[in-house]
Amino acid sequence: MSEFVQSFMQNLKAKNPSQPEFIQAVQEVIESLAPVIERHPEYIECKLLERIVIPERTMIFRVPWLDDAGKVQVNTGYRVEFNSAIGPFKGGLRFHPTVNLGILKFLGFEQVFKNSLTTLPMGGGKGGSDFDPKGKSDNEVMKFCQSFMNELFRYIGPDTDVPAGDIGVGGREIGFLFGQYKKLANEFTGVLTGKGLAWGGSLIRPEATGYGTTYFAREMLKTRGESLKGKVATVSGSGNVAQYAVQKITELGGKVVTLSDSDGSIYDSKGIDAEKLAFVMNLKNVKRGRIKEYADKYSCEFLAGKRPWGVKCDVAFPCATQNEVDVNDANALVKNGCKCVSEGANMPSTPEAVDVFLKAKILFGPGKAANAGGVATSGLEMSQNSLRLSWTREEVDQRLDGIMCAIHTQCANAMDEYKCKDNYVMAANIAGFKKIADAMMAQGLV
Ligand code: NDP
Repeated sequence: MSEFVQSFMQNLKAKNPSQPEFIQAVQEVIESLAPVIERHPEYIECKLLERIVIPERTMIFRVPWLDDAGKVQVNTGYRVEFNSAIGPFKGGLRFHPTVNLGILKFLGFEQVFKNSLTTLPMGGGKGGSDFDPKGKSDNEVMKFCQSFMNELFRYIGPDTDVPAGDIGVGGREIGFLFGQYKKLANEFTGVLTGKGLAWGGSLIRPEATGYGTTYFAREMLKTRGESLKGKVATVSGSGNVAQYAVQKITELGGKVVTLSDSDGSIYDSKGIDAEKLAFVMNLKNVKRGRIKEYADKYSCEFLAGKRPWGVKCDVAFPCATQNEVDVNDANALVKNGCKCVSEGANMPSTPEAVDVFLKAKILFGPGKAANAGGVATSGLEMSQNSLRLSWTREEVDQRLDGIMCAIHTQCANAMDEYKCKDNYVMAANIAGFKKIADAMMAQGLV
């Protein structure tokens, strides 16, 4: 089997040069699937793996716009429609200068398995642009979003492809994108998720990824008779996912002592309470400032240019970006007694870091399971839009919690069936894959 993996990966690398993140994401999945493939030779015969790593369709387009000085700017837009075997393509849009095709293929590929785990009927996709919203005026962001949608609107629709937010795309951007789609298509449908409450959004959607990651950590800790109560937690990032992870961890009795952005981390040993979190939300979502201002306001430590993984903790929540926990960070976490890592971000741990966690037998929840609460609640937003109904906060939160428990149960079942105790990476990949594979087999060569 390892021979098969080796030649499969060699081929993939040759066909996808300069896409290291995509290769990294596929490698992890393919290695995990070895025991499944052994039981199902028909997957090999039907070239299922060769098919599953190629997106069904990829769009790359020009996005020209005028800045506030009246100068022409131009960015590249993308939408990768990866797999629609179990539902319409679904996955976020990322606006960040580092966005390229390889990054979006990694995210789209991960999304396929994550969406499958949610138990909801959603295929996988991802999109975005190398546009940097940082430092742009609201007017410039609107101009960009309108131009981006002028092209994207041809490919999306409530039963075709339903984008959402991701890094750099929050409520403001979804508003501008939705407004332009509505104008071009002349219809009011649930074509994007993460919408405002007054115009088709779901309660709990902004909170969902951070809450879900915390619920998943709670479920993992439960398997060892532990809870979040009294635990010290480190969180990275200070955007959407990080903010609501802090809120839920605190609510469940934990104490969060760090946050970060691309300039560095704050370390507040007293804990980030509700009042301090409100300051962070205003700083990041309204003033669009830097996390260092927290350290200035609350007189705590600012670790310039550093990630928070050197800070002693019981539980860690990487909630910023891919590959933000390397092997040294992982060793530091384990050495400092960290018992559980729940990934709010997508692929924040490098493969070497994941190996450290698995060898140390700490509880490690990979992003495709642990951060699936965001897209799951997007799925709930789609259901409410189709029903033309709005569920209460309690109802959505309860469903979200139920879905995170169901994802944990699917992982636990795969661990039993495939004898990979405590290996949530392998279990999540297997459980997510099986449903997609069976659907693809049933639908023939499409
Ligand atoms: P936001 O844009 O709201 O926040 C991102 C945060 O991460 C910011 O604090 C940002 O700092 C930091 N960050 C981004 N890039 C880097 C970098 N290269 N180095 C260090 N810090 C960085 O995004 P979200 O909170 O929505 O997303 C965070 C992660 O969670 C991403 O991996 C995303 O794919 C994943 N995710 C998000 C979901 C959602 O529902 N939003 C769903 C599932 C996963 P700065 O401001 O300095 O850039």
